[in-house]
Amino acid sequence: MKKVVKFGGSSLADSAQFKKVGDIIRADASRVYVVDSAPGKRFDKDKKVTDMLYSCYAMAKKEVDFGAALEEIKERYDEIIRGLELRDFSLDQEFKTIAKNFKARAGRDYAASRGEYLNGLIMAKYLGYEFIDPAEVIFFDESGHFDAEKTNKVLGERLEKTPKAVIPGFYGVAYDGKIKTFSRGGSDITGSIVARACHADVYENWTDVSGFMVADPRIIKDPVGIQTITYRELRELSYMGASVLHEEAIFPVRREGIPINIRNTNEPEAEGTWIVESTCQKPAYVVTGIAGKRGFCTVLINKEMMNSEIGFCRKVLQAFEENEISIEHMPSGIDTMTVVVHEDEFLHKEQRVVSAIHRLASPDAIEIESDLALIAVVGRGMRSMRGTAGRIFSALAHANVNVRMIDQGSSELNIIIGVENADFEAAIRSIYDIFVTTQL
Ligand code: ASP
Repeated sequence: MKKVVKFGGSSLADSAQFKKVGDIIRADASRVYVVDSAPGKRFDKDKKVTDMLYSCYAMAKKEVDFGAALEEIKERYDEIIRGLELRDFSLDQEFKTIAKNFKARAGRDYAASRGEYLNGLIMAKYLGYEFIDPAEVIFFDESGHFDAEKTNKVLGERLEKTPKAVIPGFYGVAYDGKIKTFSRGGSDITGSIVARACHADVYENWTDVSGFMVADPRIIKDPVGIQTITYRELRELSYMGASVLHEEAIFPVRREGIPINIRNTNEPEAEGTWIVESTCQKPAYVVTGIAGKRGFCTVLINKEMMNSEIGFCRKVLQAFEENEISIEHMPSGIDTMTVVVHEDEFLHKEQRVVSAIHRLASPDAIEIESDLALIAVVGRGMRSMRGTAGRIFSALAHANVNVRMIDQGSSELNIIIGVENADFEAAIRSIYDIFVTTQL
């Protein structure tokens, strides 16, 4: 049994958290590869070290004295070193190198990556594991994309020779030898890459919540947790804003069918959520999760006899493509098609899109409506259950929510419902109640 364990920023924010992490790793000998984030927030108004590094580097670039700002960052690490009582270990030399490289403009990504790098050095010392610098084993190609195959080969060979190691998250090396980071929250991706490269049995992702909840706890008080979710269900929910794990973290492990287990560092006995390729485990409720986002608008295009005009949709879509607008959904009728887009992306281009649709597809009329919220009701259990849609819509009617759009993919994995922005929370509550609260 081999496990890759990734710890998020709040799990490594100070020495007290570090000790919890040490206990978790030592409790299970199969936790052999550790991926760390930079120290995160210790309390609500606190600063993440990654953000402190970005602003410190911005000062260096403006040639403002950044000494005090860097010292504040160093103090975060020194507290951890003191708290863990790591003797004959200091990051003094590392901070001198960082100051020198900041002055030499080593780059914004280099600056941000030091958060994970330094935490990794401490973690390796604390556990007695080897330290592997991702700059030697995680690669980006010339167009700036993550080079999955080269990384998998080099990292795989390295891990074969290294039975236990700490590998900092979030960064690797660009084709020109410079440090490059993934997008924010990217340590989740590193964990997944390491899991694939060593053929791990499990990728444990430790954070500060006990996995995914059926609905957003900011809307539903103490929602029930999700025990098992498939990669595909998770994709649907993360797209709609459920954010516990970086969206791209699914891809490397998915290729090997490695399950991800989301766990809580502050509640290690909780089983958390399992993310798997497929399962015969029945979901606890008909719906696995409910998520949603506000801020969409719809462009309704009307043309008589549209159903028999070959190529009409393509022409309409071209108008969006020419204006570089991505399309979220596209329900259609006989003489109408509706294109759903993000309001903030669309707003300043709307008139250009309207005239492009007229030029390309000559419709009879175009109507734009805004303030739409989309809610995705996701669940592999919906396929085999009659009446799910009926229950959703009667719950919404009882809650006085007007449904403006419905879209169900043929995968039957989800139903997307469009409601007014103002009805968003009431709609989620009523769907949660009908599927979960009434079943408890
Ligand atoms: N430290 C980085 C961030 O704050 C990456 C991570 O924590 O995953 O985004």
